[in-house]
Amino acid sequence: MTNEHLLNRALGAYLGFACGDALGATVEFMTPKQIQKRHGVHRNIIGGGWLGLEAGQITDDTQMSLALGQAIIDHMDWNIEAVADNFVTWLASNPPDIGNTCRRGIMRYRDSGELYGLPRDDDAGNGACMRNLPVVLATLNRPDLFRLWSLQQSHITHNNPLSDAATLTLGLIVKHLITLGDSDACQQESDALLNQYSQFSYTPYLGKASAYIVDTVQTVLHYFFSTDSFESCLIATVNQGGDADTTGALAGMLAGAKYGVQQIPDRWLKQLDSAVAVNIRRQTTELIKLTQL
Ligand code: MN
Ligand code: MN
Repeated sequence: MTNEHLLNRALGAYLGFACGDALGATVEFMTPKQIQKRHGVHRNIIGGGWLGLEAGQITDDTQMSLALGQAIIDHMDWNIEAVADNFVTWLASNPPDIGNTCRRGIMRYRDSGELYGLPRDDDAGNGACMRNLPVVLATLNRPDLFRLWSLQQSHITHNNPLSDAATLTLGLIVKHLITLGDSDACQQESDALLNQYSQFSYTPYLGKASAYIVDTVQTVLHYFFSTDSFESCLIATVNQGGDADTTGALAGMLAGAKYGVQQIPDRWLKQLDSAVAVNIRRQTTELIKLTQL
């Protein structure tokens, strides 16, 4: 695959992620019925939602990803303290939204310098998984570093085997899509996850789309594997409601990597916060450079 192809898919993943966040935030915490009543089919980036967002504004999912990506770029290498410090700076910026587990972990680091908490059953939210794309982009050709960096950044806030397994699996799926453009490899990663933790099984899909990492992964994989375009994947995912900005972001990450940046609808790219879009394009180019060192 040429570098141009690689960049196209990497950019598709990161911009697709942000578009999913901005699209899904409007219907976060709604049920499919409530969404249908209010929007028919929700298909445009219009802002609003419980956070009262501007159209195109993104939430914690994209902000934390950018904070992580910037820490890697600033050092052109891995520096876990820099990652945690960027999370502290982000927390202090009074973000529109933050998950409880993320807040607790970042405050622990801020107050004690501890880079990870003890393993906890209730750390099985989707907050670590949702922000890992910059690690994937920086380690496309270094599986050992992918694993180490993914787990270290995750454990700042979430120390839980289900969260770890989901973060690694979605990361490997994106990597296969970006480097190989190969769906068979993706299905194999998904099968391997289900073999290890059968609770992630998404067939039949039961329609739960909460921030519990198991529900999140079921929703994202179900709609990713059962749709055939970027747009149909994202629309189906966010209209499931629940943690729709995060399921939308993760589905957008996979679909963007699969279909490439040119398949992201223009109306979504135009609406996306332009400063965020510029930042994502810059980070993607820089992170890919690190992969090719
Ligand atoms: Mn969010
Ligand atoms: Mn969310």
